[in-house]
Amino acid sequence: MSIASFIRKYGLLLSSLVTVAFAVGIAGFRVSENLGLAELQRTGTQRLELYATSLNRQIDKYAYFPATLGLERDVIDLVAHGKPLTDTVNRYLEQLNQRAGTLSIYLLDRQGHVIAASNWNRPDSFIGEDLSYRSYFHESMQGRPGRLFGIGTTRGQPGYYLSSPLLAHGEVIGVAAVKVSLEQLEQSWATVEVPVIVTDQNGVVILASAPSWKFTTLRPLPDQERRRLERSLQYNARPLPSLGLTREEPFGENAALVRLAPQVDVVGSSRLSGNFLAQAAPMGDTGWSLTVLSPAGQVSAIAWTRAALASVASALVGIVLVLLDQRRRHLRDRLRAREALQRAHDELERKVEERTRTLRAAQDELVHAAKLATVGQISAGLAHEINQPLAALRTLSGNAVKFLRRGDVATAESNLDRIGSIVDGLGTLTNQLKSFARKSSGTSGPVDVRRAVDNALFLLDQRLRRANVAVSTEIEAEQVTALCDANRLEQVMVNLVANALDAIEGTASPTLRLHGWREGTRVVIEVRDNGPGLPEHVRAHLFEPFFTTKESNRGLGLGLAISLEIVHHFGGMLTGANHPKGGAVFTVTLPAADIGETPWATTSRS
Ligand code: ADP
Repeated sequence: MSIASFIRKYGLLLSSLVTVAFAVGIAGFRVSENLGLAELQRTGTQRLELYATSLNRQIDKYAYFPATLGLERDVIDLVAHGKPLTDTVNRYLEQLNQRAGTLSIYLLDRQGHVIAASNWNRPDSFIGEDLSYRSYFHESMQGRPGRLFGIGTTRGQPGYYLSSPLLAHGEVIGVAAVKVSLEQLEQSWATVEVPVIVTDQNGVVILASAPSWKFTTLRPLPDQERRRLERSLQYNARPLPSLGLTREEPFGENAALVRLAPQVDVVGSSRLSGNFLAQAAPMGDTGWSLTVLSPAGQVSAIAWTRAALASVASALVGIVLVLLDQRRRHLRDRLRAREALQRAHDELERKVEERTRTLRAAQDELVHAAKLATVGQISAGLAHEINQPLAALRTLSGNAVKFLRRGDVATAESNLDRIGSIVDGLGTLTNQLKSFARKSSGTSGPVDVRRAVDNALFLLDQRLRRANVAVSTEIEAEQVTALCDANRLEQVMVNLVANALDAIEGTASPTLRLHGWREGTRVVIEVRDNGPGLPEHVRAHLFEPFFTTKESNRGLGLGLAISLEIVHHFGGMLTGANHPKGGAVFTVTLPAADIGETPWATTSRS
């Protein structure tokens, strides 16, 4: 099959299969991706809670730290009255800072100036610095705890500022502040499995499991906002670039699919780029937000694999269904073809039967016609046969009248007896001829072969006698019986004997031998003459219709053809051959009738 015809035949089927496989693939991808993302979201939520809890715990550790400073008598005295205690408090703060592991601890007066600090003896000491611009100072001056993530202006060190008002007689007299390093807070994340970031209220990443993400922004900052932050010195003039996070599509509550572009200048950032499921949660009262980024690339990869598998499986199922359907059609077509063949066969059988019937009828007509032709030939001889008795009858009857006149009744009586027997003889002859000429049915029955042969000889008796033929018949009466039709067998015998008579015409001592015997389940009849026999060219055409070597008024060439047909009809055979001692011998073989099946009847040549 050429490619073009293949496409013509299966094109539509193939494109349907591809469409179905494609649709199944897309559906499979969607379902698998959604299931994968839902699973990712579940574990992401658990992680989010875990990280938030541990970070909150870390922050809470320092929550009351600044407030405890207000309980210290020296601290309050210093803030309330100034100088004399500065040294003592500075040392106290220094020790406290060391013990707590914080970055710095310091006290501000009402104006926001640092009046004591843990780093009092360092060159970059905060002492004397004006921190009134810090938001936590304002918060605490209003009696509330202050919280701020920021980068120190002195050393540029990032940290988490916690502040608390210092009270005397119910009045805020100053502010105590503690700065905690980011590293301390990040300790809780030493072993995080997925990227985590914490953004402050400005959307700036202040804590991140990837160090390069720190001091980037989740969204590009508008210029106005950027200027404001620069003025506040909160991030100490850091450039605050964008993290490169783009939001692809939301996924349920507090989650979204995001894409993280690889950072050009950061080694190994490719691991931290691609598609992520971002889940965020606010961090208590800090104003911060914790975001967990679960890598979604694998979910997509798995979903693609499953989609491909679903596609292939659906295509396979489709192909199997198509093949099954084709097989079913093929079987159905075969069944139909078989039925059509059966119908055609039945019809053919019927026609053959019909034609056989017609043929048989035609054949019967032919056989009968041939028989009538034979009767015609026989009749010519019979005319002579009848003329003689008629002449004898005339003489006898005339003499009888004379004898009666003379009163010689005895002689007249004897004449009349002879007349009676001559008339009987004529009756027998005409009866015989009539019986031969009758149209036979051709139905099978046991036939005494001897009688059939005798009848045939009787019909040709006149010719036999005239030609002075020595006839010998070796067939036991009522012992050799064939299964056929008596009339038809007689017809065959008349044909064979008549042919023999034609052949021996002019022979010195014409002889005709008729021999019949039983051989197993068959009966054999031989008709042998001492004529010239069958030359080769005659033997080759012996049984052909209209083959004759005789003059036109003596033979039609149908005798042997009809005889063969008759014998075949009864399941027998007819052959013609030359006898070794000269002359022709014709052999008829017919099925033997069951009756007469006696041990001696089955011996050959009885
Ligand atoms: P027809 O007798 O009308 O010629 P047949 O079919 O009976 O037709 O015989 C065909 C031919 O077979 C005969 O013409 C004759 O030549 C040959 N034939 C038949 N019987 C004999 C016989 N006994 N001896 C020699 N020839 C024979």
